[in-house]
Amino acid sequence: MSDDNYTKVLLDESEMPTQWYNIVPDLPEPPPPALHPGTHEPAGPEDFAPLFPMALIMQEVSQDRYIDIPGEVLDVFRLWRPSPLFRARRLEKLLDTPAKIFYKYEGVSPAGSHKPNTAVPQAYYNHMEGITKLTTETGAGQWGSSLAFATAQFGMECEVWQVAASYRAKPHRKTMMETWGATVHPSPSEVTEFGRSLLADNPDHPGSLGIAISEAVAEAVADPSVRYALGSVLNHVLMHQTIIGEEALIQLAKVGETPDVLVGCTGGGSNFGGLSFPFLREKMAGNMNPTIRCVEPAACPSLTKGEYRYDFGDTAGMTPLMKMHTLGHDFVPDEIHAGGLRYHGMAPLVSHIYELGLVEAISIPQIECFESAIKFARTEGIVPAPEPTHAIAAAIREALHAKETGEETVILTALCGHGHFDMAAYESYFGGSMVNYDLSDATLAAAMETVPVVNG
Ligand SMILES: *Cc1c(COP(=O)(O)O)cnc(C)c1O
Repeated sequence: MSDDNYTKVLLDESEMPTQWYNIVPDLPEPPPPALHPGTHEPAGPEDFAPLFPMALIMQEVSQDRYIDIPGEVLDVFRLWRPSPLFRARRLEKLLDTPAKIFYKYEGVSPAGSHKPNTAVPQAYYNHMEGITKLTTETGAGQWGSSLAFATAQFGMECEVWQVAASYRAKPHRKTMMETWGATVHPSPSEVTEFGRSLLADNPDHPGSLGIAISEAVAEAVADPSVRYALGSVLNHVLMHQTIIGEEALIQLAKVGETPDVLVGCTGGGSNFGGLSFPFLREKMAGNMNPTIRCVEPAACPSLTKGEYRYDFGDTAGMTPLMKMHTLGHDFVPDEIHAGGLRYHGMAPLVSHIYELGLVEAISIPQIECFESAIKFARTEGIVPAPEPTHAIAAAIREALHAKETGEETVILTALCGHGHFDMAAYESYFGGSMVNYDLSDATLAAAMETVPVVNG
């Protein structure tokens, strides 16, 4: 691009990547395998078969560096992809920084976040194997909405367990899921035995992602025509999201930039992995050298405060054991507004590369995140979802640091969703009722007590 006055970098549909990137074969050490919850032996495809279609199970353990995106999936992606890359010039000006801030905007999808990037292929592969219904959990409502949209594209049914706190705070997410044809329950629910047992103890149980996963899994394994879909954490989910980073690489190349710092918010790790893995590939190949940093909430800091060990993905302990940074599968985080970041664990792949020292991690309390989001909205216009306010806060910290050093740091982040359904969170900020939570060592120690002991 000859002039330097651009605000956004767009790609033609014909420039959209047609392959996903699988980082696993490029890593210096292979990630530890998932284990069977009973025998603690490495889990085989048959252990996942009641939950997922074989095509996704094979992607989960694939050693191929690139996997073709099916044509029917690309057709759906064209509804909103390629997504724009913005240069945050107005925010840069407000901060009076020499840094260049770029953000890849995933809020242009029908559901308003990056999650349809994996919901669509997951629905497609299930449909191809004759599955007629998918069950899932949702925290903030983003994943449930995305799966509801995706299943509608292939004429499938969708049943969603929405974390009760979010079900009550965000009734319009439910209506959106219903618009796409899904059925929605608050979790814990009366539908499953596990849900009923929790409600018997506490009828106002706020729920958690781990509990909602247990309920959705229980319903899926009970019926052979039903499978379960997970919106984050697993290898195949992170791989589906790499289309974000592949597009961003092309877009930055068009304007002659390479990132010095890449920051992304991490709940289960999928938007972070999706943006960063293609850049990590380039870094490992010696083509660029960005610092790559995960940003998590201070109230749910799995990477910066959790332990790296085998744990369940859900609260009832039904899933295979995954080696990951975990706060314990019984951990119920405080009710921060970034519902999508309230997960007790971190993706095994992100945990592994963090352990290998390939990426860094920090945690940020929510009030700083909303302060940053408001600066962003008043300059760039887009009102961010509560989750990426963490990424924005980290980008602003970096831009202010560049101001001190006078360096022209190139910062890249993902604005992984808009916050149009999150006005209650902004309202609580403006009303002065938002509080910061810190995770105490005692709370953490208590939650870690039930994590199974596994050799290795
Ligand atoms: C679900 C969600 C997240 C958290 O999930 P990751 O897998 O860590 O990306 C973050 N932001 C938004 C907008 C989400 O919908």
